[in-house]
Parts: sequence; C-alpha cells; structure tokens
Amino acid sequence: MTGLVIVGHGTRSAAGVDQFAALVERVRRRGDVGDVEGGFIELSRPPLTDAVGALVARGHRALVALPLVLTAAGHGKGDIPAAMAREQERHPGLSYRYGRPLGPHPLLHEALEERIDAALAGTGLAGADRAGTWVALIGRGSTDPDANAEVAKVARLLWEGRGYAGVEPGFVSLASPSVPAVLERLRRLGARRIVVAPYFLFAGVLPDRIVAQSAEFAAAHPDLDVRVAEVIGDCDALADLVRERYAEALGGDIRMNCDTCAYRVLMPGFADKVGRPQRPHDHPDDPVGHHHHHGHDHGHAHDHGSVAVVGGGPGPDDLITVRGKALLDAADVVVVDRLAPQGLLAGLRPDVLVVDAAKVPRGPSMAQEAINAALVSHARAGRRVVRLKGGDPYVFGRGHEEVQACTAAGVPVTVVPGVSSAIAAPALAGVPVTHRGVAHDVTVVSGHLPPGHPDSLVDWAALARARGTVVLLMAVDTIAKIASELIEHGRAPETPVLAVQDAGQADQRSLPARLDEIGAVAAREDIRPPAVFVLGPVVALTTTGPTA
Ligand code: SAH
Repeated sequence: MTGLVIVGHGTRSAAGVDQFAALVERVRRRGDVGDVEGGFIELSRPPLTDAVGALVARGHRALVALPLVLTAAGHGKGDIPAAMAREQERHPGLSYRYGRPLGPHPLLHEALEERIDAALAGTGLAGADRAGTWVALIGRGSTDPDANAEVAKVARLLWEGRGYAGVEPGFVSLASPSVPAVLERLRRLGARRIVVAPYFLFAGVLPDRIVAQSAEFAAAHPDLDVRVAEVIGDCDALADLVRERYAEALGGDIRMNCDTCAYRVLMPGFADKVGRPQRPHDHPDDPVGHHHHHGHDHGHAHDHGSVAVVGGGPGPDDLITVRGKALLDAADVVVVDRLAPQGLLAGLRPDVLVVDAAKVPRGPSMAQEAINAALVSHARAGRRVVRLKGGDPYVFGRGHEEVQACTAAGVPVTVVPGVSSAIAAPALAGVPVTHRGVAHDVTVVSGHLPPGHPDSLVDWAALARARGTVVLLMAVDTIAKIASELIEHGRAPETPVLAVQDAGQADQRSLPARLDEIGAVAAREDIRPPAVFVLGPVVALTTTGPTA
C-alpha cells in the first residue's frame, strides 16, 4: 500500500508538536492508509527528511505527501513541495502524489462547531443560545489573498444553517481585520457574547496570541462575554479527513481550485507572485544546507537572494516564456546581454538595477568571471537577480557556467529555457529545421572557430556526410571556410543555404545562396551578426511572404 507522509510546518510550541504526533499515531493506528510517517519542514522534530527516509528505508518508492495545512498558502503551495523536491534529489526514483489542503471541509466545520459549543458550555446555554452568540473565526492570515479568502468562505459556511447570530472572519497575522478589529466590529454590530474560534489545527504561537489578544479586548470591554474556543486538535474528524485526502491523492482526484491562485493569475497587488519559483527551507536538523533560524513568528516574510538564468528568446519582446517574464517582473537586478530582448528593459520598475553585460563581438566585453561574481554578490545581498540572455541560456550562451558559479557559491539558481535563435531564426525566415520526408536531423553548430582550428571540437567531415539540416551560429566570419570544408568532405555544392540576420526584428533580412556561393554572397551583401546560416534540403521549402 502506498506510504503516506504527513507534512507539517513546524512550531515552537511543544503542545503543538505533541498534537501533530498524536494525530500521526491516530492515523497509523487505524491501519487503513498504509505506512504512515509525519515530519516537519522547519522548527520541529522529526524533520521531513527523517520521515521520508524511514518510508524509503521500508521499501517505499511512491508516496502520498499530504500537507497538513488548512488553506493553500505559502507552506502548502511552495515550501512543502520544495522540501519534497529536495527529498526526491536525495532519493532518486522517489515519486509522490501531493494531497490538497484540508479545508474547507464539512468535517472541519463540524469540529469547529463542537469547539464553539464547548466554549459556550458551562453557561447552561450550550447550543441553546446560538442566536445570541457571534463567532469570530480567526485564521492564520497570509500574504496569499486566496488563502485569506478560504477563511472567509469557512466563516460563511460555519454561519449557514447553524443559527449563530453571525460569523465574521479575522486574522492573527499578515492580513486584516486583526483580532481586535474583528471583535470591535462585532461589538458595534451589537454583539453581547462572542466566541473567538481559532481556525487552527494545533496549538502554537499564533493560537496563543489569539487568546492573549481576545483577553485584552475582553478586559477593555467588561460588558462583553468573550470566550476563546480550542483549536481543532488531534481528533477523529481530522484523522478521517487525512484519510479522505490520502484516498483522493491515490485516486488522482485532487480537486484543487487554482483559478484564484496568485502564482498562476495576476491578482491586483500580487504581480510578484506569478510564476515565482519555490525553494525548500532548511530544517535545523537537516543533514545538508546551511542552517538558519527564523527570528519571527511567521517565518516566511524574508526573501533570500536568488538567480534565475532566463532565456529571453531571439529578440522580440514577446518571444520570452511566461515564466521568464514573470521572473523579470519580480527582479531587483537584471544582468542583460546584448542579444537579449532589449525592449523588455523599458518595462522594468524604475528601481530595478540593470547591469549591461554586453559582449559585443570584437568589442569590449565584461569578462565571464565578472558576470559570475556580479550574479553571486547581488544574490548574496538578498536580491532577486535575473540573468537575461538571448535565445536559450544553454545554447552557446555560457548559461551553465553561470549556474555552476552560483551553485559553487551556495546561491539558489534556476534556469528558464528560452526559444533559441537556432530554431527560431530559420522559422521566422520561413524554414522548418525538420520536415517529414525531407530532414530527420538537425545539427546546431557554433562557427566561432573555423575548420582546422586547434581548439575546434566540431567534426566537419561528419557534418558534410550527414544529409540533414545544419544551423550555424556565430559563423559570419567563418562561413566561407565552413562552406568549402563541407563541400570538400562531400556536401553537394548546390545545397541550398539561407542566411538570416536580425531574426524577429523589424530589419530582419534573409539571403539565399548555394553552399558553394554563400561565402562570397554573404561578404558581398554584408551579412552582419547576429545571423544564422541554415543549410540542407529544408531550405528548398522556404515559404516566402509574411511569416510572423
Ligand atoms: N543562446 C543563443 C545563442 C547565443 S550565440 C540562442 O539560443 O539563440 C549568438 C549567436 O546566436 C549569434 O551569433 C547568432 O548566430 C545567433 N543569434 C542570436 N539572436 C539572433 C537573431 N535575432 N537573429 C539571427 N541570429 C541570432
């Protein structure tokens, strides 16, 4: 049976850790969800890596990972998947299905109702005077608007049909209304009795704060009856819900609502979230990585620096990927190449630092080491750095050297592939680099070193014997030598070639020639970088007329 790892965030509250452990044990005792372990991504023991390690040691290679969170916010959407990604690196071949957050769910609403009733008990009014009781449902609060909206939804669902005078949502951190603000709102609505119901799974620093803030408000308003309900806690309803979420994940039936997720759609005021990559937090007990401890309650307001090596596409502003654009929009520093889409720079916020790493051929260049050092130092200063490159970062872009430099320096780095000019320049000029029945291979070659150069790694004779498409980049100076080398080793002199200069730009040019004439034609017509040469039978298929 597929193993289940229940993943918690972690808390400084010993009681909270005990409740988590008790719930894991309750789920395990029932025996209906296979092998169960629980672990935390930070602050508490056992760390997630131990829980996953134990399941792997017992032979599991496929798991269900269930985030033990009520709403999908940063922990559920980002931190836990990022921590699981690291576990997958540690255990090659490990796969997992990710469960959805617990709430909203009728089991939770019933549990909340019981906690509210328990808070009312002792007055002799339990259940009897709901019409005279207002409820303040207090969620954790998040910088994720969708997560806050879920708390509002639960408040409404708790109100519907249960006979309370009203249920109002509030938040103990990061979102408004705050606990005192929502209590004041209820007071003004005429409330005499208020039950503050924490929408929390387990004890912790934030539920304690709810108690303290409620007590303070009550002390200032002696005419009001203010009570605080218990958190949901370890209980059968929660174990039932864990089982349900496990079954959903196993059955592939995870009905997430992603329509209002700030990481997917642009929400007013949250543009920086769209497409933002997620990284694992280091658990203090983690065997690898640097250790840090959060000096504040929420733990995620801080931003570590990072580098994204982004392929900008062949030049036009709109041939970058959606992910690349989102990272660019969120960047603090952009280190940009000359062939990267310059038009995108105009759209950056005025406070973004743009570093020009232009490497003009034969002109001044910022040494690669200096670029690497700039990426690392800006990231170490806590900035979000985008290294914006032309085309794809890994196609003759030295992108991997930059990734290696960041990795060596311990700076988090991610690569966003781009549309390479090797494929796009021919396409924009009407040439498909492959075509059924015409070419079944395409070779992308750097022409920066001529044939016969001692440092050349290219087997020109093999390319001459091959029948398919060859795309030459950085070959404006070497095209004549390359063409004669290819003919000498067997390519037909009449092989069609197309030179494409400034692909995608308003002044895009393309120039056709035979292989034995391309050197002379390119020189005579003054073909200049950036240009690609595409040669082979596909060039005969060139569509003329508008292609873009
Ligand atoms: N990483 C880039 C290539 C970098 S090497 C990519 O994937 O596209 C630089 C070479 O790319 C240039 O010498 C030229 O051969 C080619 N190139 C880049 N942009 C181009 C464009 N808009 N039109 C034609 N060639 C281009």
